[in-house]
Amino acid sequence: MTTVSCPTCQARVIWNEQSPWRPFCSERCKLIDLGEWASEGHRIPGPPALDGLEENPESESNH
Ligand SMILES: [Zn+2]
Repeated sequence: MTTVSCPTCQARVIWNEQSPWRPFCSERCKLIDLGEWASEGHRIPGPPALDGLEENPESESNH
């Protein structure tokens, strides 16, 4: 018999057709895990710094 640990609460989950939410122990744990994953995905970093685009050729030639 194969068992796995629920990624959310570490409960033992039997890996067979009787565990429709495997590797999670329940639908709730699955939704919790997906929710955390989604919220992390939403944490996208801001736009890259535009410092490199602020070149000023005139001031460079004046030196
Ligand atoms: Zn669980």
